[in-house]
Amino acid sequence: MNKTVLITGASRGIGAQTARLFSENGFNVVINYYKSESAAFALRDEIINKGGNAIAICCDVANEAEVTQMFNTANKVFGQLDILVNNAGIAMQKLITETSFDEYRRIINVNLDGVFNCCKAVLPQMISRKSGIIINVSSMWGQTGASCEVAYSAAKAGVIGLTKALAKEVGLSGIRVNCVAPGVIATDMLGDLEEQTLEELKSETPLNCLGTPNDIAEAILFLSSDKAKFITGQVISVNGGFV
Ligand code: NAP
Repeated sequence: MNKTVLITGASRGIGAQTARLFSENGFNVVINYYKSESAAFALRDEIINKGGNAIAICCDVANEAEVTQMFNTANKVFGQLDILVNNAGIAMQKLITETSFDEYRRIINVNLDGVFNCCKAVLPQMISRKSGIIINVSSMWGQTGASCEVAYSAAKAGVIGLTKALAKEVGLSGIRVNCVAPGVIATDMLGDLEEQTLEELKSETPLNCLGTPNDIAEAILFLSSDKAKFITGQVISVNGGFV
């Protein structure tokens, strides 16, 4: 029987490529999206047309009730969830003095509370089966901090702390929890950055290029495989040497 992965924020960017890669490797895929409905359904159709199994579900990961509903639907369709990839995220570049409390809260809600909500929703079935894998997508800014990204850096550092703590809490239940911390990856998330800033980020990267969504997807696939069966509570940096 195929294993099933639920990937949050899989309508675009890193999440969409992770969905493709998991499908190519024989997984049933649950594509979570929030605003990009047509992109999510196009990806679902692309996977099905290639012979894979996929569904797309709309849900704001920051909303606990919607998350519960999403996991109920996914379980009904595929029977169980074997792997959870917490990838959904939003970024914002602003000085702290220009950031409202509501803007700060939304960044924390989506990037950190969303991970909490999805972990909580999937864990009961993983604990009762004594197996499961969770991969959280943090950021190198959660490791180092970034100027003008205080809220985002705080949320992504929180994801690292959550990963390490949860790995200790559920290890005895046969569940592995790890984190990938991407560097600068060419996706829509960089859309607000000026060309010059992108060039600077590239030249600060020792490998002198931006990463691709597939670079992150491959790390997530590895952490989900038996090749990583003794790895838990870790942060895997995929950043071209930036950090
Ligand atoms: P992206 O292209 O902007 O895609 C973001 C994804 O998150 C979209 O699928 C979006 O779905 C989804 N999303 C946003 N808010 C959501 C919500 N409330 N509920 C559910 N889904 C939501 O970004 P990306 O670069 O692929 O980023 C993926 C992850 O990698 C994020 O966690 C990001 O912080 C992290 N990361 C990215 C970089 C980078 O340089 N790109 C670096 C480090 C870490 P909709 O469009 O359907 O709303």
